[in-house]
Amino acid sequence: TYHGEADTDFILTPNKEWAKSIREKWMKKAGEELSIVPVVVGGTCIRERDIETVMDKSQRKKGVLCGSFARARKEDLQHAVDVAVEDRDGWRSLSVAERQKILCAVANKMRKRRADLIGVAAAEVGKVFSETDVEVSEAIDFLEFYGYSARYFDTYKNLTCKGKGVGVIVPPWNFPIAIPVGGISAALAAGNCVILKPASAATLCAYELCQCFWEAGISQNTLQFVPCAGSLAGEYLIQNEKVDFVILTGGEETAYKMLESRPNLFLSAETGGKDATIVTAMSDRDQAIKNVIHSAFSNSGQKCSATSLLILEEEVYHDPRFKAGLIDAAKSLHVGSVWNFTNRLATLANPIGGALKHALENLEEGESWALAPTYAEDNEYMLRPCIKWGVKEGSFCHKNELFGPLLSVMCARDLTHAIEIVNATGYGLTSGIESLDEREVAYWKKHLKAGNLYVNRGTTGAIVLRQPFGGLGKSAVGTGRKAGIDNYITQFMDIKEVGEPK
Ligand code: GLU
Repeated sequence: TYHGEADTDFILTPNKEWAKSIREKWMKKAGEELSIVPVVVGGTCIRERDIETVMDKSQRKKGVLCGSFARARKEDLQHAVDVAVEDRDGWRSLSVAERQKILCAVANKMRKRRADLIGVAAAEVGKVFSETDVEVSEAIDFLEFYGYSARYFDTYKNLTCKGKGVGVIVPPWNFPIAIPVGGISAALAAGNCVILKPASAATLCAYELCQCFWEAGISQNTLQFVPCAGSLAGEYLIQNEKVDFVILTGGEETAYKMLESRPNLFLSAETGGKDATIVTAMSDRDQAIKNVIHSAFSNSGQKCSATSLLILEEEVYHDPRFKAGLIDAAKSLHVGSVWNFTNRLATLANPIGGALKHALENLEEGESWALAPTYAEDNEYMLRPCIKWGVKEGSFCHKNELFGPLLSVMCARDLTHAIEIVNATGYGLTSGIESLDEREVAYWKKHLKAGNLYVNRGTTGAIVLRQPFGGLGKSAVGTGRKAGIDNYITQFMDIKEVGEPK
C-alpha cells in the first residue's frame, strides 16, 4: 500500500540543528571552486559548451555564485532524442514491478539527500527551507505512488499497457523539486524514456534530482538531462516527431506555442492560474486572514496555486478590523535572506518584469495600496508582501497572473457576484472559499469553475492522492489530466484491449 511521506518539523531542536548544518554546508560550498553541471546525453557528460553562471540572489551584493551549468546545443538535443528512441525498449521491457522497485529506490535516495535538495533550492531559487522540505515529501510521494499505480493498470482486465516511447519533461522553476519529479516519475512508471529540459532558473536543482535517479539504477540513456534555451527545446525536442509526448508546467502561451508548432503533439500541461479566495460575511474572519496570508504570500506568491485575488463580500470589505488584521498579518512576514531562518519570504527567482512590474507600477481607477510595495535589505529581489485595495472587475490585476507577493482585493455584492468575478478570469486552477454556511459552500462548489476547490483551507499545497491537482479552462491546455491520481500515468501509455469470446 501507499502512504504519504512526512515533512520535517523545523520547530524541534534537532531539526533546527539539522537546518543549520545545511546552511553551513552551502556557505562553505559557495567559497569553493564549483564544478560545472554538465549536459548529460547518452551517458556522456558534456561541459564544453556555453556556460551560464548562477548567483545566490540573497547575497547579490557580495557576488556569491552558487554554481554554473553547460547549455546543450542543437546537436545534443537531436542526439538525445535518438538515444531515447534506441533505449526505449530496454526500459519498457522491464516488468512494472521492476520499474516500481527502481522508483522506490529513487525515493530512498531523495530521503537521504533531503538536505542537499533543500540547500540547492535555497541557493538557486531562493526557496525557504520548510517550503522545499514539503516539496521533497511530495516528490517521494510521486515516485512511490506512480510506481504503485502502474501495477494496478498492468493487471486491469484484459489490458496490455506499454509506454508510448519518449517523453520530454518541461518543468517550471517555482517548484524545482516536486514538479520535475512528478513528470519524470509518471513517464518512467508508464514505461517511457525521459528527456528532462530543466527550467533555466532551477537547473542546479534539476541536476541534483537526476543524480538520485541515476544512482538508484536508472540509466543515463533512460533519463537524459539537457539544459538549453527554450527556443532550441521548441525546435529540436518538441517539434521532433520521434518525441511521443510532452509534460509541461508553465505559461499557457508556451503551451499554445507548442501546439501551434506541432499540432499533433500529445501535450499534458498545467498552465497557470489566477486564483481567488472568496470571504463571505458568514466566515470566521480570523481564520480567513490566516489562510489567505499563507496562500497569497508563501514562496512570495510564486505558485500557480497562490491566492492572487481576495474577493470580499461587501460587509467584510467594509469591516475595518478585517482590513487592519490582513495588513498586520502581511507585515508580520519577515522578508530577507533565505539563510536567515526567521525570514518567511526570501528572494524572487527572477528580476521583476512583465505583468508583476506593470501591476506594481500602476494604480487603476479605484485602486489604492493598503500595503505599498517595498524591498528588504535594499535588494530588488526581496519584495515584501503588498496589498492592492479596490481592484475593479476587468482591470489588469483582476485578469492577469502576477506570480509575486501582490494580493489584489476586490469587493463583491454577494456570493453570486463573487463567483462571477472569479469565473471571469478564464483560468481555473485552485479556488478557495471562507464560509461557515453549508448552503453557501454548496452553491459555490456548484458554480465555481476551477479544478481544485478548497473550503476553509488555503489554496496551495495539494497532496498526492488526497488532492489530485490540475485545472480547468486556461489553466489546463492540452489533455488537462490531474496529477497525483491513478489514471494520470495512463496518458503516457499505449493501451491495448483484446476481446475474445469466452
Ligand atoms: N501543486 C502546487 C500546490 O498545490 C502548485 C503547483 C504550481 O504552482 O504549479 O500548491
